[in-house]
Amino acid sequence: MSCLFCKIVDGSIPSTAVYQDEQCYAFADINPQAPVHVLVAPRKHVVSTAECGEDDRALLGHLLWAAAQIASSKGLGKGYRLVVNTGQDGGQTVDHLHVHLLGGRPLGWPPG
Ligand code: 5GP
Ligand code: ZN
Repeated sequence: MSCLFCKIVDGSIPSTAVYQDEQCYAFADINPQAPVHVLVAPRKHVVSTAECGEDDRALLGHLLWAAAQIASSKGLGKGYRLVVNTGQDGGQTVDHLHVHLLGGRPLGWPPG
């Protein structure tokens, strides 16, 4: 398996763990865009939301739930943003589904 995030999930590439459970692994982004920038990835290899099937419905909900738990644990009471880049136009650069949790500063809108 040559997927970067699969290697991070299995520990063969080091990362800074933030949260983990049986379905997902969350870790600090290597190039943070905000004071808090965490990536929440499923342990299972899923390319993107575009590749999700019926079987992944609960997993998608779980990733958002985990991101909200992490936001709470990080004290992001003023708010935060969850982002899921999908495909080329969506700006996805790593082809293993992940939710970005961004917070700790006001975030502009619209995004680029
Ligand atoms: P995407 O552009 O696919 O939505 O997001 C990929 C994210 O993965 C980027 O924010 C990038 O900084 C992060 N990233 C890429 N390579 C690594 C890595 O080796 N370790 C960690 N922790 N983050 C990475
Ligand atoms: Zn993967």
